[in-house]
Amino acid sequence: MRKLLFESLFRRPFTEQAPSSDDAAVTELAAALGRAARRRLGRSLSIREIDAGSCNGCELEIHAPNNAYYDVERFGLRFVASPRHADVLMVTGLVTRSMRDALERTWHATPDPKWVVAVGDCARDGGCFAGSYAVVGGVSEVIPVDLHISGCPPAPMAMLRGLLALLERADTAAVTS
Ligand code: SF4
Repeated sequence: MRKLLFESLFRRPFTEQAPSSDDAAVTELAAALGRAARRRLGRSLSIREIDAGSCNGCELEIHAPNNAYYDVERFGLRFVASPRHADVLMVTGLVTRSMRDALERTWHATPDPKWVVAVGDCARDGGCFAGSYAVVGGVSEVIPVDLHISGCPPAPMAMLRGLLALLERADTAAVTS
């Protein structure tokens, strides 16, 4: 017992080290995104997430920037409960036959101007589930998509970068039109 106690004082814990988070980069990206939203919309960016048939891996990554650790809401990025309050629809997963109608109705319920971001490889073309009898296909087969963010699942940084690129593109289009 004494030996065990002694060893436990010097032995490293069995749990794995947490991955080092690139705090500064996430903060900088989220702040840039918040500024771009205020420039383009005059207010915060509201995002509605829709799972059209995902395995939930993409949802876990979408929730990460919104958790208490990263807390991107402080920069003006809000996840909202209704498409009627949203500027951006973030759609995860391929579109299953049973979700097709719900996805179309959500898109119609979102006020213009709106952007659709397809998140993950499944949302692009059905990914590893393509060809299944239960699958319609990628998101663009059901509603117009403005941006695809690749990955299985994509990392939160990739999502923030994608949203920033989307707003900057919209900004440029508004200036040149
Ligand atoms: S892209 Fe990967 S993580 Fe996302 S829904 Fe498809 S299988 Fe799941």
